[in-house]
Amino acid sequence: MELSKKHLNLSPSMTLSIAAKAKELKAEGKDVIGFGVGEPDFNTPQHIIDKAVEAMNKGLTGYTAASGIPELKKAICDKLQKDNGLEYSADQIIVSNGAKHSIYNALQAICNPGDEVLVGIPYWVSYPELVKMADAEPVFIEGKEEDEFKMTPESIKKKITSKTKAILLNSPGNPTGTVYTKEELRAIAELMAEHNIIVISDEIYEKLIYGNEPHVSVASFNEKIKDLTIVVNGLSKGYAMTGWRIGYTASNKQIAKIMGNIQSHATSNPNTMAQYASVEALEGDQSSLENMKVEFNKRRKFMVKRINEINGVSCIEPKGAFYVMMNIKELKGRTLAGKMVNESIEIAEIILEKAQVALVPGIAFGSDDYLRVSYANSLENIKTGLDRVDEFLSKEL
Ligand code: PLP
Repeated sequence: MELSKKHLNLSPSMTLSIAAKAKELKAEGKDVIGFGVGEPDFNTPQHIIDKAVEAMNKGLTGYTAASGIPELKKAICDKLQKDNGLEYSADQIIVSNGAKHSIYNALQAICNPGDEVLVGIPYWVSYPELVKMADAEPVFIEGKEEDEFKMTPESIKKKITSKTKAILLNSPGNPTGTVYTKEELRAIAELMAEHNIIVISDEIYEKLIYGNEPHVSVASFNEKIKDLTIVVNGLSKGYAMTGWRIGYTASNKQIAKIMGNIQSHATSNPNTMAQYASVEALEGDQSSLENMKVEFNKRRKFMVKRINEINGVSCIEPKGAFYVMMNIKELKGRTLAGKMVNESIEIAEIILEKAQVALVPGIAFGSDDYLRVSYANSLENIKTGLDRVDEFLSKEL
């Protein structure tokens, strides 16, 4: 039987497959330290949980409007106004089952077969697959470590064709932690406006920036770029709410309407109680978010310093999110645990087996010269895990 051609060439998520291997080893009783995860290791703040319980106790357990409850749309509009200086009305907001779902909706709403979507390398693991699922082609733009892995107007310009429909922009970024400056974003915005290219601006890590650079939404420069931008954000990362599955988009009304229609047939409304909890997350006390950020920042500083002390690997300082890209170029072509290694996946597997530390091979993000190390783990585990990597590599090199 012939099955869906467009889905045959989808890859499974590599970040999940290394996590599965780490789980296997743990089940065998091995003490594995996981640096593979993409979620805060904090619990959702209690006042947010309480609002979900309260909603359920009030009987708010049925369907809602497919694109979200008015209270949450209002909280999102207020947040966009307050944090990003962006004015949107409720009919421009679509609440979805996580930011991933929002990006899916966005690409489904704008792409036609043959369209090209620009994606920076290293990319978040799902971008190329989400583009393919919308019948479009990902076109890659290589970011260099010496440029903090950023795309530039020059590198973007080289990839623009008559088929370019959109660009996926992610600041702060996963897997790099890169934060674009206001001026860098302005230059990209100008180029996109000039070529009428839609910007899908994934701002899910907005609340996790550690340097002095503020978060700027690319939509905020002028009306033209705002009209071309689909702002994607959500509650997962900033509020430790990954399992609640709430994300959202803000866009022009035409795109919002199409996304709303797609969602109404595909999934109906996002989880009802999670929506009530999300109103509290956005409008309630923000102090637990600040505490989480302080803790992440301590770990970030420690991790960057410690990685750069280890033989054979290095990293630059990420400015946001909770990941470090560890450069493994020096390890390639060498022998580790009796095996000549040439690929990030081989190095990740050997480190998992021999040092019992789980890292994500950079190839998952299109950059084979790196391993992604997440600091969504305790400082104690970060210390032990990196000591183990150090011990193993010192012995081998
Ligand atoms: N965008 C980026 C860059 C991410 O890293 C993630 C999660 O890992 C998402 C979107 C999806 O987040 P959500 O849990 O809201 O679907």
